[in-house]
Amino acid sequence: MTIHEALRQYWGYDSFRPQQEEIITSVLDGNDTLALLPTGGGKSLCYQLPAMVSEGVCLVVSPLVALMHDQVMHLRQRNIKAEFLVSGMNKHEMEVVLNNSVWGKVKLLYVSPERLQTRQFLEHYKQMRVSLIAVDEAHCISQWGYDFRPPYRHIAEIRAHQPKAPVVALTASATPRVMEDIRTQLAFRQGCQTFTRSFTRPNLSFLFYKSEDKMGRLLHVVRGVKGCSIIYVRNRRSTNDVARMLQANGVNATFYHAGLDTMERDRRQRMWMQSPDGVMVATNAFGMGIDRSDVRLVVHLDIPSSIEEYYQEAGRAGRDGKPSYAVMLYNHNDIDALDTVLQQSYPTPQQIKNVYRAACNYYQIPVGCGADESFDFDLQQFCHTYGLQPMMAYNAFRFLERDGLCSLPERNDLYSRLYIPLNKEQVYRFQVENHRLGDILTRVLRMYGGLFSDFVDIDEKRMARELKIGEKDVCNALKQMHKLEVVSYRPKATQPQILFLSPRMDVDSLDLSDSDYQQQKQWAIQRMEAMRSLVLNDKECRSVQIGRYFGEQRVEECRHCDVCRSKDKQKRDKKVVSASLRDRIRTLLLERPMLTIHQIMDCFSIEEKDELIAMLQQLTDDGFVRQTKAMEFFWRD
Ligand code: ADP
Ligand code: MG
Repeated sequence: MTIHEALRQYWGYDSFRPQQEEIITSVLDGNDTLALLPTGGGKSLCYQLPAMVSEGVCLVVSPLVALMHDQVMHLRQRNIKAEFLVSGMNKHEMEVVLNNSVWGKVKLLYVSPERLQTRQFLEHYKQMRVSLIAVDEAHCISQWGYDFRPPYRHIAEIRAHQPKAPVVALTASATPRVMEDIRTQLAFRQGCQTFTRSFTRPNLSFLFYKSEDKMGRLLHVVRGVKGCSIIYVRNRRSTNDVARMLQANGVNATFYHAGLDTMERDRRQRMWMQSPDGVMVATNAFGMGIDRSDVRLVVHLDIPSSIEEYYQEAGRAGRDGKPSYAVMLYNHNDIDALDTVLQQSYPTPQQIKNVYRAACNYYQIPVGCGADESFDFDLQQFCHTYGLQPMMAYNAFRFLERDGLCSLPERNDLYSRLYIPLNKEQVYRFQVENHRLGDILTRVLRMYGGLFSDFVDIDEKRMARELKIGEKDVCNALKQMHKLEVVSYRPKATQPQILFLSPRMDVDSLDLSDSDYQQQKQWAIQRMEAMRSLVLNDKECRSVQIGRYFGEQRVEECRHCDVCRSKDKQKRDKKVVSASLRDRIRTLLLERPMLTIHQIMDCFSIEEKDELIAMLQQLTDDGFVRQTKAMEFFWRD
């Protein structure tokens, strides 16, 4: 089967998108291949199609469980045998998938990077016939990238067991340094190929506005752009606040963040996809895998931590090539907030060590044991036991995961959530009418703030302690109130699991304190500084600045970002002034011919002197003005 036949047979597409054919051909020639394609550019096809025309199984490493799930479902709809392996599946389920892969019953096997290190996986992997190793979101392999994930480093190790299989690495954004790192870390062989794309987006206007009244300005911007938009904010609570403000002003807005349950997220996403003027106010959880090309406007109300993230998000506007806008609204507080966010995301080495020691003690894992073991995990209970602050602990776990020590499920699955869709009066009525539940609700309201505006993380165990009833009773009461539509209760995933990736280490021999950890923080600071300077540098075209960051030489000025616009305006203003200066000289000389330079200067203000002389010079050069032998000026029409 040729690749064109496969494209038609399995996907029903008539032609390749730009670069796809070249990338696919390179992969099928057996080259290690690095491909940069924009988001939505069709990266998946670059490994899925080679998988279909080759013998054996294509191993796909991908960082996000949700995306994996999506892709596998899509492939199955096309009658392609695809499977995935993620933490949370039990050993038996994984065994079945792995055996089928060995027996050649699977064409594409998606795995999360942590899985690559487990013995169960490796034993089967060695026996598979692997056609190709695909690494999606390949920038995750680089410490210089904005989304470093250390388990990605193990991909190179597994190459040794399948020396014939080429690697294809795919990403939407990587600086030259990150690209080089990807090739090195994946042990790219001689003759490897790299396909890059330009980062310029001629139809996208980058507009950075400093504003003390961001909401007013936002409303103005949203009303001024026809079509659908995405508005990015940093925290979950603001998504709701901003959406409400817009709704109150008659804008068709809704909000989205990872704390909403899956069904609700899907529903909102679908509504937005279908509405021609929909405005989605969201955290960065929104956008991955969203396939809408006619987004006309993306607004940032908070500054992202890196240009990569900013570009990724802003770049969701105008994928259909029509004129679109990426607007950044910021003020000085936002510039300062960048530092705070960075400090929170990087707990101190001592804090990380404490969390690791506590986790090992919690499950009574002796030093040298515990690899590959997983346990039920309750973050709140855990933090309560050791007096840890949950946000810090959560971030500390992220680092432990990076260092291949233990990994947690996504934050979303760790908590139960509660939201009260009623107003205070309705709640009051319920409390009066319903004694037992009303009493519980009263006390819940005392324990947690913000329940009326958004889903709040709650802890049933803690509630049980405070209310002095059983945990089961708490859950039942919440479920009952959920049925009565007094609250919206989303219990946490039944059994979130913590997975220990390597044997317990002695905390003192963990060298987080040293170079690596400090280095990572340093790099994060550099990325943040680059972002900060992009925001603050209003002297240079935004596209030129962004292009340079991604290593592009000689990007042309875009002529429509805020910087280019204001330069243009200055030029125009200047022209108006000088045009009038020219006219005034003309009028003067026509009325009173034969004036000396000093007589002319007396007719203009002192501030205009320089310009006046320049203008006289120019008019003389152009032949409009002549001088007599006595150095007197006259106008010559
Ligand atoms: P990326 O991973 O680069 O962001 P995807 O691989 O998810 O993009 O593809 C984005 C969309 O483009 C998908 O809906 C996919 O089906 C579609 N697509 C990819 N290649 C083609 C093609 N050659 N013709 C038409 N549609 C395509
Ligand atoms: Mg993709």
